[in-house]
Amino acid sequence: MKLQFLGGAGEVGRSAILVNDALLLDFGIKTDDPPQYPVGRVSPDAVVASHGHLDHVGAIPALLSGEDRPPIHWTPPTYELAMTLARDTLKLHGGTLQCPFTEEDRRRVSEVSETHGYREPFTAAGHEVTFYNAGHIPGSAHVRVDDGETTLLYTGDFYIDDPDSGGRTPPSSSPGDFPGGQRLVSGSSARPDADVVLAESTYADVSHEPRSAVESRFVESVRTTLWEGGTVVVPAFAIGRTQELMLVCAAHDIDCYVDGMGTEVTRMFRRYPAFLRDADAMSRAKSNARFVTGRDGQRKRIAAEPTVIITTAGMLSGGPAMTYVPEICANPVNKLCFSGYQVEGTPGREIIETKSAEIDGRHVQVSAQVEQYDFSAHADREGLEAFLDSYKDVPLLINHGDRCEAFAAELTSEGFEATAPEIGSTVDV
Ligand SMILES: [Zn+2]
Repeated sequence: MKLQFLGGAGEVGRSAILVNDALLLDFGIKTDDPPQYPVGRVSPDAVVASHGHLDHVGAIPALLSGEDRPPIHWTPPTYELAMTLARDTLKLHGGTLQCPFTEEDRRRVSEVSETHGYREPFTAAGHEVTFYNAGHIPGSAHVRVDDGETTLLYTGDFYIDDPDSGGRTPPSSSPGDFPGGQRLVSGSSARPDADVVLAESTYADVSHEPRSAVESRFVESVRTTLWEGGTVVVPAFAIGRTQELMLVCAAHDIDCYVDGMGTEVTRMFRRYPAFLRDADAMSRAKSNARFVTGRDGQRKRIAAEPTVIITTAGMLSGGPAMTYVPEICANPVNKLCFSGYQVEGTPGREIIETKSAEIDGRHVQVSAQVEQYDFSAHADREGLEAFLDSYKDVPLLINHGDRCEAFAAELTSEGFEATAPEIGSTVDV
């Protein structure tokens, strides 16, 4: 099997791997300024996408800008997310170099889309392909590719439940019970056979605080602020994080507002209950939350209430959060709770480091309390090793991380056979 690394090798962003010159796995955007796309020109016979995040599906419509009409295979939520993200990219950057496709290309995606569930093998560009739950966001998949001689397992991004429980925690018995991992999706427990594994390594350097502890700290902090009459703004990604926080609030009887693209994504996820850990819990979370339309100064009114507001963008790079943060930031009783890692150069990172930032062209000084919680949807070091432990006897290729080479070397010293391919390289396995 021949693998060409067109993106996402030694970096996070623009994931793209071409298998046997025919089958393209993912085709993402790296959201730098300017954005970066996979290297080289590619005209695949078929495309398979692991999950609906910008760095994995963001550039897919561009594959349809010429004469080629390769079928695109994914799970139903991944298809919907790709269409939502493409619409958002067009809205923000359409007609500029920041957007590599047109509305027409986006429309064509729906014509070539073919959706599949987990563990339902299908054929793509002459390969047998099977999806397995990756536990990262709804619809996320490990992709197993069999070319008749070699089988590759491409992990995409994945999350497993508390490794100590072997990723097989029983479902929760009462609404408030901690489920052992993310509330939104069950952790990945599939370990399909493979001759070679291509694994992500986003958090190869990190040990996450146990999820239950993150949740408890968050809930306690939010309750304190509400009791003091303050407002809590929780910047969150639209896909996955917003719904996870809604579920946390509902499980602990905390009312919340939800604003931004996360509201639309929530409605979509509810149409695919089979891809959720607990569809009833998601229904309860939806009833517990109030969705904001933003009409008639609604946001300013809400920002004055003692309440929780879950809103995009997760790193304060746009979205309704830009209205809420200036409204609440002057009062030290209020709180800004970041729900994940803040990339350098984002207003979120600036606020954490300096308690001030440039927001919508205005300098904002933050007197409100600032906290950070790691509601990550990626396996950490222990999670990666717990997963890779099932693949001790096969070659590992490490991608999708900031220090893939170092992680591969560490794995090698622990008895694995691991390497980190470079971007633009071709590897025969
Ligand atoms: Zn992802």
